[in-house]
Amino acid sequence: MQREIQDLRNKLDEIDGNIVDALAARQQVITTIGQAKLTAEGGLRDLTREQELLARLVARAKDADVDPHLVTRLFREILDHSVRRQQQNLVDRDNPDRTAADVLVVGYQGTDGANSHLVAQKHFGPRGVEVEYRGYDSFEEMLQAVHDGGCNYAMLPIENTTAGSINESYDLLARMNLVLVGEDIWKIEHCLLAIEDVPLSHIRRVYSHPQALAQCSEFLRRLKDTHVESFTDTAMAARKIRDEQDLSQAAIANAEAARIYGLHVVKQGIANQKENFTRFVVVAREPVTVDERIPCKTSVILATKHEEGALLRCLNTLADHHLNLTKLESRPRPNNPWEYLFYIDFEGNLASQQVQTGLRELTANTSYLKVLGSYPARTTRENRPAEPKPAGASRPKVPAEPKAASAPTASVMQQLEKKPYKLVSRAGRMKDTLIQVGNVTIGGAEPVVIAGPCSVESRDQIFACARVVKENGGHLLRGGCFKPRTSPYSFQGMGYEGLDILEEAGRTFGLPIVTEVMHPSDVQPVARQADILQIGARNMQNFSLLKELGKVDRPILFKRGMMADIDEWLGAAEYILAAGNQQVILCERGIRTFETATRNTLDLSAVPVCRERTHLPIIVDPSHACGTYRWIPQMAAGSLAVGAHGIMVETHPDPATAKSDGPQALTFEMFEKLMAQIHAMHAAQVSK
Ligand code: PEP
Ligand code: MN
Repeated sequence: MQREIQDLRNKLDEIDGNIVDALAARQQVITTIGQAKLTAEGGLRDLTREQELLARLVARAKDADVDPHLVTRLFREILDHSVRRQQQNLVDRDNPDRTAADVLVVGYQGTDGANSHLVAQKHFGPRGVEVEYRGYDSFEEMLQAVHDGGCNYAMLPIENTTAGSINESYDLLARMNLVLVGEDIWKIEHCLLAIEDVPLSHIRRVYSHPQALAQCSEFLRRLKDTHVESFTDTAMAARKIRDEQDLSQAAIANAEAARIYGLHVVKQGIANQKENFTRFVVVAREPVTVDERIPCKTSVILATKHEEGALLRCLNTLADHHLNLTKLESRPRPNNPWEYLFYIDFEGNLASQQVQTGLRELTANTSYLKVLGSYPARTTRENRPAEPKPAGASRPKVPAEPKAASAPTASVMQQLEKKPYKLVSRAGRMKDTLIQVGNVTIGGAEPVVIAGPCSVESRDQIFACARVVKENGGHLLRGGCFKPRTSPYSFQGMGYEGLDILEEAGRTFGLPIVTEVMHPSDVQPVARQADILQIGARNMQNFSLLKELGKVDRPILFKRGMMADIDEWLGAAEYILAAGNQQVILCERGIRTFETATRNTLDLSAVPVCRERTHLPIIVDPSHACGTYRWIPQMAAGSLAVGAHGIMVETHPDPATAKSDGPQALTFEMFEKLMAQIHAMHAAQVSK
């Protein structure tokens, strides 16, 4: 008897070996077909052929007395794997530099056997390259590792069909400069695990990840006298149960964790909803370009403009371009109470004209738009790659120009542009852009006054300035912390120490703060503290800096370079808008001419020119133009008379001892007079 069984087992081993060999042979053919498809026209996937194949196999299974469901399930899995592999070939071809690494490092949150680990294996398995999976304690640490290059990819859970969106993931994606290059879906099968097959009534403590506990809340409520405790992840909870060998303890984790940690599955399927899926996104540092034959999703984060119906207009824009929305989520907008960031996923590929035009139009209704990337979609419930659109559904015709381009002045406007600045130009957006900072609106009828010292020098100095600015009706407090000085021996600013006290002064007096940033690596940290980031004249064409500014959700006060013509200035502003940030305030501050009586020549004609050419607000800084306090009142009045949306001036408690730009600083008394003059001008304007 024993012998007979042994013989049969040997036979089974041989059959199983043959199955693997057959799969390997299949894979070879798939790879060859995949190579041919790289250059061939037409779709990657032939759904009709797949259906026919399955039908044939099912018929054959029936003839051979094999369960047709088993055959269907197995072959769906095999076909899915093949499609993924071929898609990956295309992605690798289009992104050669990302295939260079010998070993891919993929991060996940948790320990061996966590759902994140399993889905990472599923996602990266078909790549056919060596992958090292690395567990991290938190999402933040994991994403930081991707950012710093310690990890090529991270598998980040973003939503669950029972528990909903994972807020922390969304907030991290908004905050960190990372992109999405993939997604996957994992069926979560929660089980109760213990060291032995104990009765449920013996269990006194259950450990698991808070998400898992939430998803099994109904089952847990039915367990009497049981204490429920959160744990860093499901697999870690399983490990604890193994380590502590306590019969009264159990963990909620998947069956794979039971296998890894040698535990018993006391009860299966304990989630509130049987169909319980988590969607993960694959996070990377650089985006991928994806062949248009692969069905894709694109993810963006946006803040709408402060206008009625702005969100609706954004959604309509997507609909107009037939970009099907698959997810819309809102989260509080950092630093802007009662405002929201919207996270939108839609079907479409950034490589297509349709999506590019759609996004360009979308920017017109947003103040901030961050494109997280396009990636192959894996969205059906059965967790297959999304199916291609049926043949009849060809791409809709996209109008060649954005809608507003047909307005009468648009073509004239475009002819004036030496190099086109599509987003900055009024040709694309007729309406003035209003920029909201706290309670202050920049770009509207009321002129805005930004005032404060050239440099933050001390707590007393900046507090004194803040008080005077506030008491006289100024709107924003300025103060340089990183100073662009002509000489390296001059005062270079107080850096972050200065920013701390500027922030404190602003908060104390209810004034939003403006400060200059000079280095790309300072953009993100300064944006966390300052309400507006200033770009100085000397950095107007620092393109790496401009691209970085496009990624933050903060308005930019964008000074004109002293040697720049208006086209160059607007072209440079386009960099910021093109990178996502639509909140740019232009600032004319004087240009270099042959005239030396003033520090620079204030080009007041730039104001009406810019108001004609662009929808962006423009303010004037007479201080840096004049170089002396003496002509500031006249030039400020002139600025407002020609249509500036506001002014920025320097003021100091004791100009004679100022560490920078003392000669042009207004005393507090002069500032008070200037404010009275501005108020009178505005009142006269309104009463007209
Ligand atoms: C400033 O505002 O202090 C400053 C340095 O200005 P600009 O870049 O216009 O010289
Ligand atoms: Mn200055």
